[in-house]
Amino acid sequence: MIHFVGAGSGAPDLITLRGARLLSEADVVVYAGSLVNPALLDQCRADCEIYDSASMTLEQVLAVMDRAESEGKTTVRLHTGDPSIYGAIREQMDALEARGYAYDVTPGVSSFCGAAAALRAEYTLPNVSQTVIITRAEGRTPVPEREKLQALAAHHSTMVLFLSSSLLEQAQADLLAGGYEPDTPAAIVYKATWPDERIFRCTVSTLAQTARENHITKTALITVGGFLGNQYDRSLLYDPGFSHGCREASR
Ligand code: SAH
Repeated sequence: MIHFVGAGSGAPDLITLRGARLLSEADVVVYAGSLVNPALLDQCRADCEIYDSASMTLEQVLAVMDRAESEGKTTVRLHTGDPSIYGAIREQMDALEARGYAYDVTPGVSSFCGAAAALRAEYTLPNVSQTVIITRAEGRTPVPEREKLQALAAHHSTMVLFLSSSLLEQAQADLLAGGYEPDTPAAIVYKATWPDERIFRCTVSTLAQTARENHITKTALITVGGFLGNQYDRSLLYDPGFSHGCREASR
């Protein structure tokens, strides 16, 4: 059996209870060493075989799983944040399907949630944005034409850019060309929920400069939008004049 587990965004106590249990029971662990906090591996059994996938190919990861399966062992594939976001798990799951292995997925706290917590922010403020666009700037991995940053920027929604902190000159130009005002608030969150977390608040027009001045080139999220400002409406859900399934309006 193979368990894909979300490790959470950094702090080792942000893994789920289920993920921690699976990790503590595993015979074999393959973890994404570039971003998973190694402190999580303290939960593994002393005799657990541990592999860092940072230097491995998909084929090498699968070879580890093949051997574990042939020996009747339980494997945890530990991915950073939540495995469904830029986790490259589909290609692994398809390979496991083809081999007839049993597997399941345990979610994790994605770094975009860790970043919101670090910022003490709400992405979906009433009358500001009710939409969060999770995307990336185009680097070596192509982005479909219809999802180019400039096109997405036209929505003026909350936007979170993964994998983009080394591509900010172009990303900033695309966000501005797409229609965000230059003074739209933005924030770079480096290593959200890690002990060395850092937050840099800026605007869309100073994103690249801010990253450059602070030497941020990886392990950061770029967040953009009015949700980082101070104008918003209060929610209807908790408005005394608003009735819903669980509460009658009191005025
Ligand atoms: N599955 C992960 C994302 C993997 S892609 C998740 O759900 O978070 C790797 C990218 O995620 C990094 O380039 C960076 O943009 C972002 N990232 C991962 N952990 C982060 C953290 N703690 N703080 C800020 N960004 C992080």
